[in-house]
Amino acid sequence: MKPAKFEYDRVSSLDDALRMLASPDSEVRVLGGGQSLGPMMNLRLAQPDRLVDLGRVGGLDGIETEGGRIRIGARVTHARIEDGAVPGPTGLYMRSVAAGISYRSVRNRGTIGGSLAHADPSADWPAALLATGGDIVAVGAAGERKLSLDGFQTGPFTTALGYDEIVVAVELPQLGSEVPWGYYKVCRKPGEFADAIGAVTVGSEPRVICGATGAAPFRVAAVEERLADGARELSIPDGREILAALDPGFDDYELQIHAVALSRAIGRAFA
Ligand SMILES: Cc1cc2nc3c(=O)[nH]c(=O)nc-3n(C[C@H](O)[C@H](O)[C@H](O)COP(=O)(O)OP(=O)(O)OC[C@H]3O[C@@H](n4cnc5c(N)ncnc54)[C@H](O)[C@@H]3O)c2cc1C
Repeated sequence: MKPAKFEYDRVSSLDDALRMLASPDSEVRVLGGGQSLGPMMNLRLAQPDRLVDLGRVGGLDGIETEGGRIRIGARVTHARIEDGAVPGPTGLYMRSVAAGISYRSVRNRGTIGGSLAHADPSADWPAALLATGGDIVAVGAAGERKLSLDGFQTGPFTTALGYDEIVVAVELPQLGSEVPWGYYKVCRKPGEFADAIGAVTVGSEPRVICGATGAAPFRVAAVEERLADGARELSIPDGREILAALDPGFDDYELQIHAVALSRAIGRAFA
C-alpha cells in the first residue's frame, strides 16, 4: 500500500514545528521515528496533509539527570535505551523493556516520545513508565507544561496531549538501587506487540501496572496494597480475582494472561 498524498517539512526549530501544527485548515502531524505513523499512513489509517519531521530539531535527544530525576528527550530511540544510555537503576529497568520492543531496525528509529504520544494500547512504554511514574514534558503555543504519566494515556491511541502540542521529553524518578522492579510481556513471539503486560516497581509506594489492555494501562491498587504490606508474590488465581473485580472487560483468556503477566512481573521483581 502507498500513503495518500502529503506534504513533508523538515524543520530546525520547535517554533517552526508549532507554527505548522497551528495551521487551522489542514491535518498536520509531527514525525518521530515513523515506525507507527509510517505503517498507518501506508494502510491509509492516517492521512495527514502534512508531516513535520522533528529530526533536525536540536535538544530533543538528550538524557540528563538532576536531583533524582532523569530527563529523556522525546527523540531518544528504543535502541539507545537498550544500549544503556539511561543511567542508574531506572536505566536498567528501561533496558529490559526496550530490548523486547520489536526488532533492532524498528528500535533504531522508534522514539520514546513517539511511542508515548501514539499511545498504542499494546505498546510497551506507556505501561512500563506508568510503573515508574513521572511526567511528560510538552510544548504548545501556550508554552511548556508537564503532564503526569498517571492519566496521560486516556484510551486506545488517545492521550491528554493537545492536538497542537509536541512531546519534548519524559521526566522519570531515578529508582533506588534497592527498589525491586519487574516487567513481563506476554506475546506470541519475542519482540511482538504485547497481548498482556505486567510492570511493577516496589519502592515506598509500590506501582503495579496492567498493560496491553486494549485501552489505557491501569494501576492495580489491590496488588499495590499487598506489596506494601510485604507480599512478595501473587498467585495467578488471586490475580484473576483482583482483575475481574476491576471489571476491565477481559474475557476468560485475557483475564488469565493478564494475571500471568502480573504474577510473573512480581516474580521477576523478587527473583
Ligand atoms: C514491526 C513493528 C513492530 C513493533 N513492535 C512494537 C512493540 O513490540 N512494542 C512497542 O511498544 N512498539 C512497537 N512498535 C512501535 C514502535 O515502538 C514505534 O517506534 C513507536 O510506537 C512510535 O514511535 P515513533 O518515534 O516511530 O513515532 P511515529 O511513528 O513517528 O509517530 C507516532 C505518532 O506519534 C506522534 N508523535 C511522534 N513524535 C511525537 C512528539 N515528539 N510529540 C508529539 N507527537 C509525536 C506522531 O504524530 C504520530 O501520531 C512496532 C513497530 C513496528 C513497525
